[in-house]
Amino acid sequence: MPIAELNNLFIFIDLYNKSSSICLILSHFLTNPAFLVIFLSVRIRMALKDSKQAEDSVKTEYTMVVRPNKLKNLQERHLQGILQYVTLMQGVTKIQLSNLLGMSLSSMNELVNRLLEQGWLRQAGTFPGDRGRKAQLFQMNPDHACLLGIDCGRKTTKAVVADLWLRPIAIETTQTPFKESQQTILRNIVQTAQAALRSSGKPLKKIVGGGLGLAGQVDERAGRCLNFFSKPEWNDFPIQSYLSEHLNLPFLIVGWSRGGLLAEKWFGKARNVQSLLFVHIGSTISMGMAFNGSLYLSASGVSGELGHMTAKPNGPRCYCGNQGCLEAVASENGILEQVASALSEGIQSRVNDYGRKDNYTYEDVVQAANDGDKLAFQVLEQTGEYLGTCVADAINLLSPELVILGGHVFDKARQIIRTVEVTIRKRALETATRNARIEFTSFGAETLVLGAAAAVFECIVTPNNVFGLTDISERFPLQKENGRLEG
Ligand SMILES: [Zn+2]
Repeated sequence: MPIAELNNLFIFIDLYNKSSSICLILSHFLTNPAFLVIFLSVRIRMALKDSKQAEDSVKTEYTMVVRPNKLKNLQERHLQGILQYVTLMQGVTKIQLSNLLGMSLSSMNELVNRLLEQGWLRQAGTFPGDRGRKAQLFQMNPDHACLLGIDCGRKTTKAVVADLWLRPIAIETTQTPFKESQQTILRNIVQTAQAALRSSGKPLKKIVGGGLGLAGQVDERAGRCLNFFSKPEWNDFPIQSYLSEHLNLPFLIVGWSRGGLLAEKWFGKARNVQSLLFVHIGSTISMGMAFNGSLYLSASGVSGELGHMTAKPNGPRCYCGNQGCLEAVASENGILEQVASALSEGIQSRVNDYGRKDNYTYEDVVQAANDGDKLAFQVLEQTGEYLGTCVADAINLLSPELVILGGHVFDKARQIIRTVEVTIRKRALETATRNARIEFTSFGAETLVLGAAAAVFECIVTPNNVFGLTDISERFPLQKENGRLEG
């Protein structure tokens, strides 16, 4: 091997090692290339080992990878990366951030100081070290801005104004005028949001943006509702632009379960989870999915339609046209129809004792089951088995680390969760469930409305703005020096 090539190789190794000592050795070995080759091979192995150790040393409990997006300003990506880590870790030092984001400490110092000046970050005590000067911890400043979330379902419409830790400042709830016209339902959504904004006492300029979590199928990328309980006037309706115009805010739309997933991912039980399923069971059934730490959105807007998997091949007809869909037998309405079907066959039950005759609710069925009513208990058990069977199929397909269950059906009847879990363990592959945790949502009955607000948060801290909230960076700049909001 010519000496000239060896010299080139040596310069490469200098990047990893102490250049002065190597240069002295180089001058000694230049007269004997054979020794030099042996020496270089040892140094290469040492350099690779040092590099691996350096890489390992920056790994923390939070292993999320911040992926560079060349279409965005790299500095803005680093600023977003800082906001991600301060949210997930809740207290992080500049050294940890520089290791996690692969930046020099001086560059990190500049970016953290900028975010402090703008008001995005605040100090959060010191890192508990053994000796020497203690490192300062930083966290997201929850009061810097607010998020507006709306949840519209068949029964109720909710709106929340939350801080940047997703803590509710004000929540308003109204009855959804479900049987009225589309215009009446839309007006109710706007009025509920305005009531929450008033109750919060926060000016509109303090709100980053609004998110609407809607039952049924939605296309987040296009900002359109695809299906809202089969009401034809809602099909392909541009609800994102409607709300943006009527509430004078940047707005997005998110499917119920995908919003719930984002709340868990940033603020709940899935902070350090790479593969996650969020299963929502209420008046509809759906499933949000995240892989490699990122929310999955299909090209068409339709994905995770767990509710339209076939659970009972000869079961009742679903509104989608299929027979025996999970939603037709295990959603809130599906449960009521199963009870009605059994009563029509003459099976005795006390469900009618809890409300007006033939107008019993899901809550009445749960109460009857708790009081020992055999029919009500069997229907809820069967519901848990239908749900567990379909979730087990999803686990076999996707093998997630964590499955989170949420929604009104679970809120009211926790015994269904036990049946679901037993059925999953019985039916799913042991290899797929061995490391999979199954949990109940962190946010209870507020999961969906907080999930809509969490989708707005996702747009602040991630580069893939699939929700189309394009003017967030203008309202709440990460880069401009005078981007701090007043009051
Ligand atoms: Zn269906």
